[in-house]
Amino acid sequence: MTLDATHNPLAHSWVESANDPCCDFPIQNLPFGRFRLGPHAEWRAGVAIGAQVLDLQQAGLLDSADMAAVMALSASQRRALRHRLFEGLRSGSHLQSHWELALFVRSEVEIGLPCPVGDYTDFYTGIHHATTVGKLFRPDAPLLPNYHWVPIGYHGRASSIAASGQCFHRPHGQVMAAGDSAPQLLPTRRMDYELELAIWVAQGNALGEPVCMQQAEDHVWGLSLLNDWSARDVQAWEYQPLGPFLAKNFATTVSPWVVTLDALAPFRSKPLRPADAPQPLPYLDSPANRSSGAFDIELEVWLQTAAMQAAGLAAQRLSQSNYLDACWTLAQLLAHHTVNGCNLRAGDVLGTGTLSGPQAEQGGSLLELSQGGKLPLTLHNGEQRTFLEDGDTVILKAYAERAGARRIGFGECRGTVLAARV
Ligand code: MN
Repeated sequence: MTLDATHNPLAHSWVESANDPCCDFPIQNLPFGRFRLGPHAEWRAGVAIGAQVLDLQQAGLLDSADMAAVMALSASQRRALRHRLFEGLRSGSHLQSHWELALFVRSEVEIGLPCPVGDYTDFYTGIHHATTVGKLFRPDAPLLPNYHWVPIGYHGRASSIAASGQCFHRPHGQVMAAGDSAPQLLPTRRMDYELELAIWVAQGNALGEPVCMQQAEDHVWGLSLLNDWSARDVQAWEYQPLGPFLAKNFATTVSPWVVTLDALAPFRSKPLRPADAPQPLPYLDSPANRSSGAFDIELEVWLQTAAMQAAGLAAQRLSQSNYLDACWTLAQLLAHHTVNGCNLRAGDVLGTGTLSGPQAEQGGSLLELSQGGKLPLTLHNGEQRTFLEDGDTVILKAYAERAGARRIGFGECRGTVLAARV
């Protein structure tokens, strides 16, 4: 977690597009992802640099095109790979003429999931989200008594996770309308998004062997954006007593580039824990976590409706928040998930939960921004939204920026709601 030459904000790459100050993928970032040259071609492990992707096998950095080879590396081996990438891509590198042949234009290749996803757990670390939503469902007791003690989560569905660009039909589900005596199967009328980060597990732990706080981050490959699409009317009817099920497992979209914790080292921060919250139990505590277990990552939600797209209007930003407002750090999520011996595996995804800010306009879902559907948002073009309509595209963005460091970005997490199947 110390800074090194790969974080030097003045470092330049011979890949010119990487030196654009607005570029999400400068040489200080080097996020991992998979691409392929056609719909039937093999997925290939790569690293995003500027507007390009470097093929790791072709560059001589991997023996195969399989991303599993990267994920099997230890944390220190992954750091060594980052240094080799940095050395090869920096201006003046003797590898330039060799690696130029291993570069592909990102917009000309298909970008997929960074790896096959094994299991998916979604947490609930966004305390402002938990409080606002808790008020809607339980006005008298918004935060349940366990919230400050247990990193709350549920097991989600990995099979419906897809990379940015996912389009899905408005799902059907059981909905119990107010005043009715029986539910009906209907297309959801309360289609929503959730602004989250995904924590990608690189190396698992053996069944029965918990991961302690001191080693938790060694198991983490990195972070991407995650949209936990949610059907709120289905959720309200089904969620008790076992939590979300069909309200959330029809689609989950992630941004395809895994931004490593090494790349995020300049943006570490002390976790913000509410003054009235109890100290975590010892298995969720460590000196390093107290001093720098959190990450300063700016988060944004953008919406482009079908009408905006037809009129040639750009997407509109709906909200901004920051990962610093999460109640639990990623190390705490790993330590908690495994404390009973549960085995995480390479390719598992842990969602942070919706990351809302403290202000009402910083809600990371429409449920919050429209106060449970009571207060429609008026968009710049005059359209109104309480929940998503068919043809709406939601775009999540994230970046880390700090004086003395190069800004790095996460790219986009984009998804579109299509009309329900008839
Ligand atoms: Mn969620």
